[in-house]
Parts: sequence; C-alpha cells; structure tokens
Amino acid sequence: MSAEPIVTAVDLNDEGRVWCWCCGSTDSPDRMVHLGDHPEVHLCLQCAHFVHQQAWEIEDVGKHGPAAFARDQFRNLRAEVIRRGWHHNKLMGGKLRWLGKYLP
Ligand SMILES: [Zn+2]
Repeated sequence: MSAEPIVTAVDLNDEGRVWCWCCGSTDSPDRMVHLGDHPEVHLCLQCAHFVHQQAWEIEDVGKHGPAAFARDQFRNLRAEVIRRGWHHNKLMGGKLRWLGKYLP
C-alpha cells in the first residue's frame, strides 16, 4: 500500500480524473485507493469500504463467538435496509449510509 499510484494518460479522462475499477465512478487520483502491487488499479472510497466489509465477512466465516454473531446480525440488517431501499430515503437515507460506514 506504500507504492505511489501510477496514473497514465490512458487512465485519465479529460478532467484529470480516473475511473474506479469496481463501479466505474470517476474522481481525482488522490481520492482513490490503489493496490500495492497494482497501483494502476483505482478504487473509489465507497468501493474500498465495500471491499473491506467483504474481507471482514470472509474472515468471519466459521467464527461462532458473540462478536461474530453481532456482526452477522448487522450485516443482515444492512442487507434488509438495502433490499427495502431505505438507504435512498430522503429523511433517513443519509444517516443510514453514514451509519453503514461504521458497522461491519
Ligand atoms: Zn467504485
């Protein structure tokens, strides 16, 4: 993760922004996460958080303690919120998305 990001002219669009390799959104290279051995790969912050959550979920497979159980319940709750589209709600969507950053 200490490698400097390599941004080539091919990566940059007309506004000096790069594409997220996960979702296709664009941002400045300084606002993207870059992979250690592949600094040419850009991940937007939202996708980086998503990847982190996925890694945590994979690590939890096979764990049965109370913390793993609680994290599973939060994941189930998040999935239900997303399924119902509450994260796009005008009144509580912003708060739910904010809260989701801090939950497993
Ligand atoms: Zn993305």
